[in-house]
Amino acid sequence: MLEKLNKNILLLKSFLTISKNNSYRVAEIIINNENFYNDVDILLKNLRNNYSICKKCFFFEYKNECLFCENEEINQNKICVVEEIKDVFAIHNNLKDNFTFHVLGGAIDLKKKINLEKLNFLPLIERIEKNKNIDEIILATSLTLNGELTANYIIDYIKKYKIKCTKLAKGVPMGSSLEYLDDITLKNAFKNRG
Ligand SMILES: [Zn+2]
Repeated sequence: MLEKLNKNILLLKSFLTISKNNSYRVAEIIINNENFYNDVDILLKNLRNNYSICKKCFFFEYKNECLFCENEEINQNKICVVEEIKDVFAIHNNLKDNFTFHVLGGAIDLKKKINLEKLNFLPLIERIEKNKNIDEIILATSLTLNGELTANYIIDYIKKYKIKCTKLAKGVPMGSSLEYLDDITLKNAFKNRG
């Protein structure tokens, strides 16, 4: 019996990409809450029907309009390159700076044979080639070896476009994912970028 439940919980874990501990908690919530199915059904329908992924910056679109690319208040000439969608939230919620984003969908990982071609890198180059007014590309990849490698490869590649290209300031602990940085560290990393 316990084995069967464990199997289901493991499925939940891989579906939701959460930790094993959290999956037990989620299973408990699902089993305990009789409205859960309806509430989640409404939520999922709302997400599925209204949101999609922008093919230009790879952030979310709402009713086919990208929250960044199609927002006139956003400075389209400054692009902050991040690994994951969650990094956009971490940065946008904490910084007042006005720039748009580009989500790579990960970082280079030589062990897993992930190179720039497997990431949303070519669409970034397309953006650079289409917009002659870009005045800065900010590499805000995570401060891990793979994140650094990714940033350096991109900087190297886009040198030929002669666009100002910056990286987050050192001083941020190596191995950090942006979402775990406190507000002040994140702000300083951007303020002192170079
Ligand atoms: Zn977009």
